Amino acid sequence: MSESTTITAGEVSAWVRAFAVAVAEVKDELTALDSAIGDGDHGINMHRGMGAVVDKLDAGEPAEAAALMKAVGMTLISKVGGAAGPLYGTLFLKFGAAASGDLTPEGWASCFSAGVAGVRALGKAELQDKTMVDALQPAADAVSAALGEGASFADALARGADAAEEGARATIPLVARKGRASYLGERSAGHQDPGATSSALLVRCAARTWAA
Ligand code: ADP
Ligand code: MG
Repeated sequence: MSESTTITAGEVSAWVRAFAVAVAEVKDELTALDSAIGDGDHGINMHRGMGAVVDKLDAGEPAEAAALMKAVGMTLISKVGGAAGPLYGTLFLKFGAAASGDLTPEGWASCFSAGVAGVRALGKAELQDKTMVDALQPAADAVSAALGEGASFADALARGADAAEEGARATIPLVARKGRASYLGERSAGHQDPGATSSALLVRCAARTWAA
């Protein structure tokens, strides 16, 4: 995508479908991470949810980016149990609520930040609570900062994905303060958070899909 190009519904669809493929590939790794500090279903939850999203899109894609994001969010909320369904669902609903028409890079950065704010409002997680917020918030901040410094959209997306992966890795030593992993207390330290890991993958998929 060139710098002047905007993000259309078709590009949102391509990103979401790329994430579905990527989740299928790492399903077992996500489940292994969740087995260490949760109940071992994160890979299954995400795989089921993204499968339902692809089915929904195959049945008919909304023509507007905002409507497509909302459809993704509603599907995740209705089809995925556990914490991740409502949290990922809210992320996409809030992307959609913040979007109108095709998105400019700056428009996407605003949607991204609004989505992360929605996840934080729902889950009440702060940075370093060892959740998906530890990947998503630095990523949203990095995209906005990069665009503010005049970076190309491709560079901004790549910096966002790098920040998300760094944030996910940085959850390893943390003690969980939210979600199931918090029940383990100190024993949650030493493992990477599964939701932060899948969230970093979501951001990487945007960089790969939209910067191509
Ligand atoms: P469950 O914990 O219900 O089994 P999943 O295993 O699918 O659901 O998802 C677990 C992930 O959800 C965690 O790794 C964490 O990143 C995320 N999570 C859990 N609770 C919260 C919260 N309150 N705020 C943000 N993210 C959370
Ligand atoms: Mg779980």
